[in-house]
Amino acid sequence: MNSDLKQLIRLQSIDLAIQELRARIDKFPGISKALDEKLRSAQAGLETAKEKVKSNQANRKKFEGEINNTESKISKYRDQMMAVKTNDEYRALQHEIEHAQKGIRKTEDDLLNLMMEAESLQSEIKTAEVCLKEDQQRVNEERKLLEEENKRDLTGLESYVKERQEIATSISSDDLLPRYERVRKHRGGIAVAAARNEVCEICKVRIRPQVFQEILKNDQIIACDACQRILYDPNNLDHPFEVA
Ligand SMILES: [Zn+2]
Repeated sequence: MNSDLKQLIRLQSIDLAIQELRARIDKFPGISKALDEKLRSAQAGLETAKEKVKSNQANRKKFEGEINNTESKISKYRDQMMAVKTNDEYRALQHEIEHAQKGIRKTEDDLLNLMMEAESLQSEIKTAEVCLKEDQQRVNEERKLLEEENKRDLTGLESYVKERQEIATSISSDDLLPRYERVRKHRGGIAVAAARNEVCEICKVRIRPQVFQEILKNDQIIACDACQRILYDPNNLDHPFEVA
């Protein structure tokens, strides 16, 4: 088998692997950030519930204060009632007391509603805490896997890049590597194609029978007339390659 052809086939498989690894490595920061975001939103849910509890407590305190104030007002009216001289004055005070008592009842209703709200807020907080804990656990696991994968990818990339350099220097024909790069650049990253049943496997254009017979030998560099990709017979390799 032509040794340059053999190297190009390997080079193509390495380049596809490098492309895939780089794509995944590029995505890593974004995915990592999305994990942070997920946690932040669970934390925000908990914070919101806690804020609601705070404002509920403040309102309850306010209403309780209002009730106390009104009660002391009522007791003042009662004191004044002892000292009034006319029925009109007495009735006026009585009216004030009734009005104040009505106010208290209304505030007590509001207070009761707030107390019920506080109960449901407590369970809201509990749910938010459970959610946050679950999310934290999930995110930690996902991040661990992601970081492991990223580490593997970086190591893999490094070793592919090294092997690529070795292959590049081992190709004997000077113009072959630039030609490979040119075709790869213009043909969607693929410069080497298998030929099967007289057809270029990538561009699907038919290969002339005499040319196909030559390709089957794998002993020279022959390009597809249609796409310029370098062709080879996948069933006649010295040893198996990882060819996409
Ligand atoms: Zn072709």
